[in-house]
Amino acid sequence: MSDQTAPAEPDVDVAVNLAAVKARIAAAAKAVGRAADDVTLVAVGKVHGAERMLAALEAGHRVFGENRIKEAETKWPPLKAAFPGVALHLVGPLQTNKVRQAVALFDVIQTVDRTKLARALADEMARAGRQLPCFIQVNTGEEPQKSGVMPAAADALISQCIDELALPVVGLMCLPPIDDEASLHFSLLADVARRHGLDRLSMGMTADYEIAVAFGATHVRLGTAVFGARPRP
Ligand SMILES: *Cc1c(COP(=O)(O)O)cnc(C)c1O
Repeated sequence: MSDQTAPAEPDVDVAVNLAAVKARIAAAAKAVGRAADDVTLVAVGKVHGAERMLAALEAGHRVFGENRIKEAETKWPPLKAAFPGVALHLVGPLQTNKVRQAVALFDVIQTVDRTKLARALADEMARAGRQLPCFIQVNTGEEPQKSGVMPAAADALISQCIDELALPVVGLMCLPPIDDEASLHFSLLADVARRHGLDRLSMGMTADYEIAVAFGATHVRLGTAVFGARPRP
């Protein structure tokens, strides 16, 4: 957000990438009889600088994702002020002591994965008078190092968030293991969502978003395909 619009990483044309990815999403949707505008592209900007975000904004894109509160807090307030209508999704893990900052800055929380966090979010949203659509993150691969509620505990957490905490839950999110067949995870997530009447599914990244669209993704989270390879943080 300065006069220095010269990109620090000039090898990537974000506008061209966005157009290409959107065309592929539309084709993948059409192939399974879905409408292209059924699928929202969340452009994940983590690690990349504001210049890259600016290029996407100037190309007309408005839906973004970040995985760290601190990084988002330095990058996004000026961009949001300059471009009305931005929807910023939190796609990384959230600690309860960062809930206040998260609710103030983000527009969608995709990573609700435990009761304590759900309760803290519900309380803070009430306090701030700001209801943010939430996704429950399911650890479909049951990976111990990863965030997300285990599949066996997902039904109970979803019901509790909706019925007891009145959290505005709109759907489910997953981040499958890198070396696994992604479609197994996507269909598992879709099954859990169906049981609860939730119609939004955040699944699919650069390597597998077309498969995710075939399995019902309403939100694909793309970093590399839009902004290029991430610089080392
Ligand atoms: C980084 C990240 C993405 C984007 O990953 P790419 O493979 O670069 O598209 C999507 N979702 C989450 C949760 C991420 O942290």
